[in-house]
Amino acid sequence: MRVDLHVHTNFSDGKNSPVEMIAGAKRAGLGAIAITDHNTVEGWKNLNLRPNGFIVLPGTELSTDKGHVILVGIKDMPPTKILEELLDWVKDNNVFAAAAHVYDLPFRNPMGDYAFEVFKVIEAMNGQTPRHMCKRAISAAVKNNIKYLCNSDAHKVQHLGTYYNNVPGETAEELMDNLLKGNFEPLLKLPHSFDFVSKRIF
Ligand SMILES: [Zn+2]
Ligand SMILES: [Zn+2]
Repeated sequence: MRVDLHVHTNFSDGKNSPVEMIAGAKRAGLGAIAITDHNTVEGWKNLNLRPNGFIVLPGTELSTDKGHVILVGIKDMPPTKILEELLDWVKDNNVFAAAAHVYDLPFRNPMGDYAFEVFKVIEAMNGQTPRHMCKRAISAAVKNNIKYLCNSDAHKVQHLGTYYNNVPGETAEELMDNLLKGNFEPLLKLPHSFDFVSKRIF
């Protein structure tokens, strides 16, 4: 199913509520999203509806000492923001982790080259990152033989639906299992306004 693993709500700097983002994601043809607000899991925790036929994975986008990291499959915040400690915790707790928008503008706190030394998965395509930086991340992932993701980093409903990954599974548990095993494929389709760029990049 189509899964977007990087979605913000008004529990951090997103414009829409979790319920609005879920409705928007359903309309856009996604089967699941991870709510990954900055340094909080409250959006998922406060969700009292469990939508029919749509999966919401709990997550966060953590500001670590080395850059932004997406964590999926957590119901409480991790005990540390120090990357090395975090990666140990991730391993011990079956959490899916990916360095977010590894090459990006400095104010977005990308991890850069170091991500390829310590992560099994990185986010290469990000809907809010300049195209040439996404392209650079894809090339580096291929070169380092590392799996990569394609996520929207949606901060409002309108950002949803164009960036996602195909992950096998019908339940949250199956999706988590396949993510952890690396069984997923990113969709490398760019929005129509970027078609002229995509022809050159891909
Ligand atoms: Zn970020
Ligand atoms: Zn983000």
